[in-house]
Amino acid sequence: MISIQGLHKSFGELEVLKGIDLELDKGEVVVIIGPSGSGKTTLLRCMNILEVPTAGTISLNGQKADFSKRVSKKEIDAVRRQSGMVFQQYNLFPHKTAIENVMEGPVIVQKVPKETARKKAEQLLRKVGLGDKLDFYPFQLSGGQQQRVGIARALALEPEVMLFDEPTSALDPELVGEVLQVMKDLANEGMTMVVVTHEMRFAQDAADVVIFMDQGKVVERSGPSEIFTNPKEERTRQFLNLIS
Ligand code: ADP
Repeated sequence: MISIQGLHKSFGELEVLKGIDLELDKGEVVVIIGPSGSGKTTLLRCMNILEVPTAGTISLNGQKADFSKRVSKKEIDAVRRQSGMVFQQYNLFPHKTAIENVMEGPVIVQKVPKETARKKAEQLLRKVGLGDKLDFYPFQLSGGQQQRVGIARALALEPEVMLFDEPTSALDPELVGEVLQVMKDLANEGMTMVVVTHEMRFAQDAADVVIFMDQGKVVERSGPSEIFTNPKEERTRQFLNLIS
């Protein structure tokens, strides 16, 4: 489902990703951990091509782009369509209701008829536990509720892969659980997911694979029980000691 090879990304002189390889099967959940500045967000943004990689290939659900060559807008769009992204700051349209936020992508991007999009959006908002908040504006919703709208909005475009960039780190602690629960439900339904998070409990409960990144490289890739109890690399051990 996901194949990334030799991915590099530089911002000017600063090389942030230094050759990332990542393979993931359909339905797998990978959690990416690592110190601040190690390139986790940049990797996720490259997978959605919000950042254009400097070199390397990305293949999502059979749609491939090779950034060592010139990549056309059509190729970029084809790769981008395969994934949906959930951001740390939910980035909802403030002047649109929950249901309008979820309908926006299908109506504008996919030209889905409004009524069809509305039905789908309602279904998705029910799925994330917000069936009674369809007509609420973002300012009338808690952070956890806004983030669940954010998840429904990403799902509305029917992506094959969901990318989560620290989805709970802007939330008050008591609101984290409701968002993680929605993510666990998605994982249990077989969604392929890439999650950058500091929530180690989530990694333990939901990840098939945990990747530890440091200084733009993948240092270690293991199952969650292995990496947390018996990390192979000294740098992984040091990081886990610091955060526990
Ligand atoms: P992480 O998510 O692991 O904290 P990031 O991917 O956010 O790491 O950032 C990695 C490095 O890339 C940092 O040094 C950051 O300052 C730099 N960086 C990220 N985005 C940009 C950008 N748009 N322009 C310049 N530097 C950036």
